[in-house]
Amino acid sequence: MVQADQVHKYFGRLEVLRGIDLTVPAGQVCVLLGPSGSGKSTFLRCINHLEKVTSGRIWVGGELIGYRQRGDKLYELHDKQIAEQRRDIGMVFQRFNLFPHMTALQNVMEAPQRVKGESKEEVRERAKALMNRVGLADKQDSYPAQLSGGQQQRVAIARALAMRPKLMLFDEPTSALDPELVGEVLDVMQGLAGEGMTMIVVTHEIGFAREVGNQVVFMDAGVVVESGRPRDVLENPQHERTRAFLAKVL
Ligand code: ADP
Ligand code: MG
Repeated sequence: MVQADQVHKYFGRLEVLRGIDLTVPAGQVCVLLGPSGSGKSTFLRCINHLEKVTSGRIWVGGELIGYRQRGDKLYELHDKQIAEQRRDIGMVFQRFNLFPHMTALQNVMEAPQRVKGESKEEVRERAKALMNRVGLADKQDSYPAQLSGGQQQRVAIARALAMRPKLMLFDEPTSALDPELVGEVLDVMQGLAGEGMTMIVVTHEIGFAREVGNQVVFMDAGVVVESGRPRDVLENPQHERTRAFLAKVL
């Protein structure tokens, strides 16, 4: 579902991603670990073309992100085509970014409604089903300010799912939450994984990585230091940098 091939990213002269390779098969969960500043968020943002790669290629569902290839030349896609690609990729951030003046249900309905082709009734039914799926059937008419952080984050997940993405990206989805609210969000993500959603998750929740991840990738300073099955990487890390990081977060 996701293939990244030698992704490099510079901000000015700072090389933030230094040749990232990654493969995530359909239906699998890849957990990205790494210290702050190692390039995790930048890499996720490259996957849905919120950032442009400096070089390298990323495919999602067989589609080259941001470019069309003819022969060995790459042509940049138009904004409309990039927007279309982005619709297939759901993203959930550390901060929930819900629209404060809309109810939870309206937040979930907003994006699919903007995209033509579906009736409001269809979108509403799907949004209600999604609110139910994230355990918030009784909160659909609440405004974000009336919800806890964990509830807001679950609405944010429902909102991303409303576009029927083929891939979900999570960037530290529980880092801004009070500890007692972390579990309810991880439970929703685990459920989603169980239903076969392909996911890339940046998190420091090692328990989640171990139980839900099919693959753990440890990044440091813009490179993949090591990757593999969660129990191999987490219990038997091969590199000193991985060991030092795990000692801090475990
Ligand atoms: P992580 O998510 O692993 O903490 P980031 O991808 O956010 O790491 O950042 C990696 C590096 O890139 C950091 O040094 C950060 O300061 C830098 N960086 C991120 N975004 C930008 C930007 N828009 N402009 C300049 N530097 C950036
Ligand atoms: Mg980050």
